[in-house]
Amino acid sequence: MTAVMAAAVYHGRGDIRVEERPVPEVRPGELLVRVATAGVCGTDSGEWDHGPVQHPVHARHPASGHLGPVIPGHEFSGTVEAVGPGVDADWLGREVASCGAVACGTCPPCARGESNRCTTYVGVGLHRDGALAGYVLTPPESCVPLDGLGISLDEAALCQPMAIAVHCASRAGDIEGQTVVVLGVGGIGTFLTYALAESGATVVAVDLDAARLELARELGAHRSVQTSGDDGDAALIRDAIGEDELRVVFEVSGTRGGLATALAVSPPGTRIVAVGIQGRPVEVDLAALTVRELSLIGTNAQVRETDFPRAVELVARRAGRWAAVAPWVLPLEDLVEGALRPMSEGRPPAVKTLIDPWSRTRRPLRGGTS
Ligand SMILES: [Zn+2]
Ligand SMILES: [Zn+2]
Repeated sequence: MTAVMAAAVYHGRGDIRVEERPVPEVRPGELLVRVATAGVCGTDSGEWDHGPVQHPVHARHPASGHLGPVIPGHEFSGTVEAVGPGVDADWLGREVASCGAVACGTCPPCARGESNRCTTYVGVGLHRDGALAGYVLTPPESCVPLDGLGISLDEAALCQPMAIAVHCASRAGDIEGQTVVVLGVGGIGTFLTYALAESGATVVAVDLDAARLELARELGAHRSVQTSGDDGDAALIRDAIGEDELRVVFEVSGTRGGLATALAVSPPGTRIVAVGIQGRPVEVDLAALTVRELSLIGTNAQVRETDFPRAVELVARRAGRWAAVAPWVLPLEDLVEGALRPMSEGRPPAVKTLIDPWSRTRRPLRGGTS
């Protein structure tokens, strides 16, 4: 008899069902992880609300070979239950954080240390079955053991979004000692604020929402600016920057207004990292970009070899103090109504929503280790 597990299965737009699925059989080069906690983010709510975008439900994924309904969940932690052929048995029984990135390790981008650009990149929980289930398969290269770090498995599920933030920060180059603006501090902007402050930047957090700004300050923002989404925003931000020299703007809101504000506040030589994904093409004043020598920089995913271990270290620095970011852990049954729907309607229940696939009820985040 095959062992079974509960899994959230994405069948298409607006159609996620909690089903019984066989526990996957461990494959060569991979770990079978008993999932402890999985995070959901805007990518997941987007797939549910207006996807499939990345989920290979209708067309076979060229690298993973997956076709059909898929189990989401690309940010997760758990305990290694089995190792596949070719994997060091040392992994057995260890608690891990995983970023779910599958990269070949040998293509030109991988060889340059840019595995997020791997030509056969696969995301666990995006392009193949993920962690919104009792068990998940993942390569050891996407995992960091939690041994001795002092973080709980719940907190370990925050390492992947932290790695996204670490990668965003790295795209701006050296930020130590520099004044940077983060436009939009919900979701990834919160993690980014923390990652930047911990890396020695002076962070000016900007948002429409006072509660988000308060949390940004708690996580290390030096100044905060509450904007109203109109033409006056740039002046408010300039006032807050004062005499400092602004070097980097992270545009996290993904709105046309946010990008316009980023360009408006940027003095010559500023690097603008476009973190938030614009829903449609927007006009950019390239003449201003040219004569002010601005750089407009993209960012995508994270490099599992460098960004992810750094992210684990950053999460560990704040062990036991993550409840304000992710206060609750929900059961699988609450995935849609408790997380994906409110997120897609712009009213996320918290900065980060976590799921415990083994729980039947909502429970508070467990922080630190005893
Ligand atoms: Zn995510
Ligand atoms: Zn590669």
